[in-house]
Amino acid sequence: MAVCDVCGNDYDKAFQVTVAGNTRTFDSFECAIHALAPRCATCGVRIIGHGLESDGTIFCCDHCAKAEGVSNLRDRV
Ligand SMILES: [Zn+2]
Ligand SMILES: [Zn+2]
Repeated sequence: MAVCDVCGNDYDKAFQVTVAGNTRTFDSFECAIHALAPRCATCGVRIIGHGLESDGTIFCCDHCAKAEGVSNLRDRV
């Protein structure tokens, strides 16, 4: 049994995610995404996939990157 860091649910199938040595506990991917997923610098959407990154700024898609004047980005895999 473990308690979710985000919503406080005590769930027997909770899981842990370690980011940069910091371990967090979640009861669902939804809560993990809420806590860990970066936001697009342009539209604010949660980035669940790979996203696009330029100088530490993350975008959800090429359209949003271009809106900030960033061009020539490719999917970072
Ligand atoms: Zn939760
Ligand atoms: Zn976006």
